[in-house]
Amino acid sequence: MSILIKNCLVVTQDKQRRILKNHDILIEKGKIVKVARNIQDYADKIIDGENKVAIPGLINTHTHVSMTLFRGYADDMELHRWLTEKIWPLEAKLEAEDCYLGALIGCIEMVKSGITSFVDMYFFMNDVARAVKETGIRGFLSYAVLDFPTPCFSSPSEGIRKAEEFYLKWSGDPLVEPLFSAHAIYTCSEETLLGIKEKADKFKALIHIHLSETEKEVRESIEKTGLPPALYLEKIGFLSENVLAAHCTWLNKEEIGVFSEKKVKVSHNPVSNMKLAVGGRFPLKALMEKKVTLSLGTDGPASNNSLDLFETMKATSLLHKYLNRDPTFPSAQQVLDMATIGGATALRKERELGSIEPGKKADIVILNFRKPHLTPLHKVVSHLVYSAKASDVETVIINGEILLEEGKLLRLNERKVIERVNERVANLIKR
Ligand SMILES: [Zn+2]
Repeated sequence: MSILIKNCLVVTQDKQRRILKNHDILIEKGKIVKVARNIQDYADKIIDGENKVAIPGLINTHTHVSMTLFRGYADDMELHRWLTEKIWPLEAKLEAEDCYLGALIGCIEMVKSGITSFVDMYFFMNDVARAVKETGIRGFLSYAVLDFPTPCFSSPSEGIRKAEEFYLKWSGDPLVEPLFSAHAIYTCSEETLLGIKEKADKFKALIHIHLSETEKEVRESIEKTGLPPALYLEKIGFLSENVLAAHCTWLNKEEIGVFSEKKVKVSHNPVSNMKLAVGGRFPLKALMEKKVTLSLGTDGPASNNSLDLFETMKATSLLHKYLNRDPTFPSAQQVLDMATIGGATALRKERELGSIEPGKKADIVILNFRKPHLTPLHKVVSHLVYSAKASDVETVIINGEILLEEGKLLRLNERKVIERVNERVANLIKR
């Protein structure tokens, strides 16, 4: 199907960060073919872009989407108590259908919020993949491997085997991109970490990991290995340009240097970090100065409690301005970069995703800017970061397919999914 978006304000996020007024975007066979004024080519579907803004789909580089099931279940707790007393006991009871429905409602939430790609690490990943396929979103999925028994495997070696099976099953799929995950250094032994790395290297796949999230993690790493988390991973040979590390709130100067040298990719999750009060100061400026690839994540909806990158963009900017007592850094443009082209680069997909340019995959979000809170319009990038809301997202195209049109989900019945999720969660709590 071909789609022509007419007369739109296009925030391209190309190399020059061009903003194009009254431009058309032609999409054919899942790709962006032309971005120009007055395109006259035939298209099966015309979208009127008057008073609308087109942006590249937002990329959420760290979440656990099925954890929508635990949204609001246990808040206002310290991270380790929250995990051990509340989340892990419920997770032990999880079944495949729970993760499928949790993922389905989360994928719907993300599409409606303008997120077109997300990185997920969790359990029952074939069922998460099923939800991704049904929704039509792009999912970069992996089994969370750790040393403790999980609902999907009882030993880390079994977890690694499952992760490899999952990788082989989904490799080459147009929407599901499999990768590998080690949960964290405090849940994975050196043998487990290196076992995951061996598999990822075999397939040249990405490895996703939680890293340097809390002071406790750093203290224990130093007690156990003599080194802070990132230096420990460097010492055992784990770090490379194929590693995507989430959180990194406690990185020291030496670790930042190693990240730069090894080209490790970073996912910054400010809302989750602030909610769980993990302390530390995500070293945004130092990482940027060292040209480390930076992206944004929401983290799971149990620790955020939304899957909303508009909110995350604003939080990123405000948090760092406040911490550094510097209203000039980061700029709205730098933050938008993290949510778009930065995310694509973190996933090694900068040639395919992250900007609106001919030849790239057609993952495009259209926002309605004819709203009181977006009036007047001086600088569109400023509005996207500081004023726009996920609810301003009107139309979403992923892989050249319209999934959301004028706020209406085309593939799925949202109300029915909400009912199924509510029934399933009631059953999970009682189980
Ligand atoms: Zn996480």
